Parts: sequence; C-alpha cells; structure tokens
Amino acid sequence: MNGNHRPIPFLDLAGIHDAIADDLDLVWHSVRKHGYYTGGPEVDDFETAFATYCEASHCIGVGNGTDALELILTGLGIGRGDEVIVPANTFVATAEAVCAAGARPSFVDVNAATLLLDPAAAAAAITRATAAIIGVHLYGQMADVDALVALARRHGLAFIEDAAQAHGARFGSTRAGSAGIAAAFSFYPGKNLGAFGDGGSVVTSDPQLAERVRTIANHGRAVTDRHRHELAGRNSRLDTLQAGVLATKLPLLDESNARRAAAMACYRTLLPDGYEPLAEHPYAESVHHLAVVRTGARDRATAALTGAGIGWGIHYPVPCHQQPAFERFPAQAPVAEQAAGHILSLPMSPTLGEGDIARICAVLRGVRT
Ligand SMILES: *Cc1c(COP(=O)(O)O)cnc(C)c1O
Repeated sequence: MNGNHRPIPFLDLAGIHDAIADDLDLVWHSVRKHGYYTGGPEVDDFETAFATYCEASHCIGVGNGTDALELILTGLGIGRGDEVIVPANTFVATAEAVCAAGARPSFVDVNAATLLLDPAAAAAAITRATAAIIGVHLYGQMADVDALVALARRHGLAFIEDAAQAHGARFGSTRAGSAGIAAAFSFYPGKNLGAFGDGGSVVTSDPQLAERVRTIANHGRAVTDRHRHELAGRNSRLDTLQAGVLATKLPLLDESNARRAAAMACYRTLLPDGYEPLAEHPYAESVHHLAVVRTGARDRATAALTGAGIGWGIHYPVPCHQQPAFERFPAQAPVAEQAAGHILSLPMSPTLGEGDIARICAVLRGVRT
C-alpha cells in the first residue's frame, strides 16, 4: 500500500454512521426505556414513513430481503408447480426465494447495455406454468418496468420488484416499490438504506396482500386477533432497534443518493479508456448502489487496486444459473455469462470525494488494458 494515502474502502459505513452518531445512540436509549424489543413505535413509524417514501400504501417490516421476496410469493399463492421468471444476473437471493416458496426459477438473460432483465427474453420464456416475473433493480437502476409491467399484464402474471439495491430509484415517474403488485427491499447494512444488521420489508399498495404477508410473517396470526392463527406461518420480523436505525437514516437517503450520483458522474469524467460504466436507460434515475464498469483487464486492475489500498468487488462473478445450487434449472443467458467475466465494482459511498475518485482512476490508468 502506498504509505502516503489512507485506504479507500469499497463502502464507507463507518463514515456514514459517524456523521449521525448521536442520533443513532438515541435509538438504543429509547428502545431500552420503552421496552418493546420487537414491534413498538419504531416499527410502526418506520413502516409508515417507508411506504410513503416508496409512494405505496403499505410497508411490512420483515427479517431480511430474501424473506420479503418469499413472503410476497407465498402471499400471492405462488409455489409448487409454478415458474417464476428471474434474471440470470442477480444476487442468488432472488432465485433462492423462489425455491423457498416451492416454485421453480426460470432464468432469463439480461440487456447487454444495462445487465438488467431483458423484457424480450422474458417474453420468450413465458410458459403455461409461469406465474410471476421478478424484475431486479440491480446496481441501483430500475429494470424497464414500463415493458415488464405491460408484459406481465398481457399474460395475467404478477410483476414483483426485487428492489434490494434500489431504495429511492425511479423509472420515469415510477418509484421503486410502486411498479408492480409488491416489492421486496433489503436493509442489509451495505444497501443504500442499511440497518445495523439484517432487515427487510415488503411494500405494496394491495391491502389484501399486505394483510396476508403480515399474517404469514407473524406466525399466521390474524391481524385483528393475536390468539387466532389462521395458517401455519413463520416468524420474520424487523426488530425494533433496526427499525429505529432505519427511521433515523431514512430522512438522509435522498441526499445520500444524490452524493452517490455525484460520485458516479465524477467516475464518468475521470475513468480512463478501457473502463466502461454500464449504460443507464434514458428513463432511469439510478441510486447508484454500485459503480460497475466493464473491463478486459479485470485481474490486473483488481491487483493494482488492492496494492493501492482501494476496495473493489465483483457483482457477480458467476451468473445464478451456473451456480451449483441451481444447475437443475438450465438456462440460455449468453449476455449474462459474457458480462460476468468483465464486470468490476469500484468503490461507491455517499462519502466518496472527487479526490478519492481521482486517485482510483489514476491507479486504473496505470494498468495495461
Ligand atoms: C441483498 C439482496 C437481496 C437479499 O437481501 P437480504 O436482506 O440479504 O436477504 C435480494 N436481492 C438482491 C438483488 C440483493 O442485492
């Protein structure tokens, strides 16, 4: 590591939380005082605030983003015998949730420019068993929900959003979380809105689905009678402390997303030849969860970054359909397969400054491409 420079982390969570340390400490104190450790005012307040933020009517806090997806599918009655279309390029959790609900993932290729679910490929994959399409808003950019929602409607399918990487994103005037029948969010610490541990939510404007998800996630309990268990549900909760942390951070989300956008604009200006940022659809307003570039020199670039004390990641090195866990669901996804060998995620944080980005780009400029 170059001794003159402090390391640049892939994501600067410490910097984000240092700036609001006193407010975060208050959460611990207020939960200790009122004594609700699950449920309680923090959960109610956050659910209301986050539904409003997503321009939807209901938010149900749950244990994590993967549970949120599974609860949506189960709440819609999707399971055994059903197929669910998912992009081949996503975090495995999207497909895992489909399997956990008892359905089969049908992996579909992605658009070559954005690496998001390709509506034409999704249309070609629809069979008589297809019950839903999960559009994943990967890297902070919403999938083409205009085309995907229209496709789902034409075929009588549910359109579900995996918005785990897209808190606050838009496609045209549509906010992430309000495009389909329901959306799953993750509040894993590294997401744009992150807790101090695991958390997630289901966002929907369908009151019946909201009630079913709430019931299933709370031991099958009727929402109006806690001693009546209507079905064998499960336990998936957003803890009170986590909800308090999230409610503290939510008012800062738009500014934090704007700082990410400024960092991405700076990358676009300073990146040397040989590092191509992914394209953004003209209607998309990305929240830049990740700064992904394509490069033919990935191994040399990552070695140079590591040598300079700069964090990096690959999202994701193996497309889902090529993971051992999903090899019984074969797929044709040449675009996702080709991209997996070339994508590189550079540091992205709301605290990332121009000087940091200049340093990162200078290291990349020194790599033979
Ligand atoms: C993080 C993530 C999930 C899962 O969320 P968890 O809270 O970790 O369970 C699902 N889908 C995508 C695209 C993600 O990035």
